[in-house]
Amino acid sequence: MIGGRVALTLDPGLLNRLATDRTVVLVSGTNGKSTTTSMLARALEGDFSPAWNSTGANMPDGAVTALLDRPDAGTAVLEIDESYLPVVIDDTRPGVVVLLNLSRDQLDRVGETRMVANRIREALRRSPGTTVIANAADPLVVAAAGGADRRIWVRPPSSWHHDAVVCPECLDEIRHHPSGWACTRCDLRRPDADWTVDEAALYRPDGGRHPFELHLPGAANRTNAAFAVAAAAELGVPAASTVRVLCGVRDVAGRYGWIDRPGGPVRLLLAKNPAGWQEVLSVLDGTSSSVVIGVNSRQSDGRDPSWLWDVPFERLRGRTVVAVGDRADDLSVRLHYAQVDHARAADAVAAVDSLRGGPVDIAGDYSTFVSARARLVGV
Ligand SMILES: [Zn+2]
Repeated sequence: MIGGRVALTLDPGLLNRLATDRTVVLVSGTNGKSTTTSMLARALEGDFSPAWNSTGANMPDGAVTALLDRPDAGTAVLEIDESYLPVVIDDTRPGVVVLLNLSRDQLDRVGETRMVANRIREALRRSPGTTVIANAADPLVVAAAGGADRRIWVRPPSSWHHDAVVCPECLDEIRHHPSGWACTRCDLRRPDADWTVDEAALYRPDGGRHPFELHLPGAANRTNAAFAVAAAAELGVPAASTVRVLCGVRDVAGRYGWIDRPGGPVRLLLAKNPAGWQEVLSVLDGTSSSVVIGVNSRQSDGRDPSWLWDVPFERLRGRTVVAVGDRADDLSVRLHYAQVDHARAADAVAAVDSLRGGPVDIAGDYSTFVSARARLVGV
């Protein structure tokens, strides 16, 4: 990434030139972009051997580094931070943009979601020929995708919509109901889905059905996988073959896989905003593990921890919970009001060691995740 940053500083037109004559797929959204990018890159590996930013460096310099590393690759799959998506669309003229979701994340850095959605829509208007594969359940995504000439809709089994109670088009109220959502004033409403995923299967636009048994837990990963299948299909990879690849994935960049430890297995989960926590809590609901929660709110995480009050930590009542991190005091207050009994420890690994065996889930923000992973698996 440093190489990419230096190269971009010396030559601001570099990303544009590196993308020329390649088929570029951009994957963006607040949550799930690393997982979806990794899934899509694996699905395309056999036919395309794509360039991709596997380290998760998802700003323009990370994209430059990924493309510089693979001058031979005719296809590129790039995870892009949603706030940089407009400029990267302008630079790369992507064939496909995957737009997963837009919710609050690092408000001090990324900015307000409706503004982000508007900027993405304008960039798509400037990029005719780009197909958007977008989340039909997310009003902000539907508004952003409105700038594209061609849209393919994916409907997930569930969706976080507490950041979309107001219509991004007219600011009136959005009503959510079991069969969809619609603005109470303007035309914005949930589009009919092309691809649908539920607890059992993935359904193709032509009516075909694929049983969908993933090792990766949770509805969010089923949704990420559905986006990867739809995006690979745009490049000509049959859904059946992508589904086969994705059902073999057990771990994405250290997340979700269980790590063996003498006291019991440990699993690392990344949760950095309310929508991400919603998914992590869904994964935890199905388990009896002890839970270590880490919140640092450092530069890489976003400094503002106020979102802790929007996470339904009440769902952890009765579980063994340990709070860690630079913001353990804030977290502890939140858990207290959620009536979640909890202990405190110096850090995530100390917390694991303080528990008396059995499986442990460590759920934390980015810096918590990286440091715990480094100490537990040495990477
Ligand atoms: Zn409206």
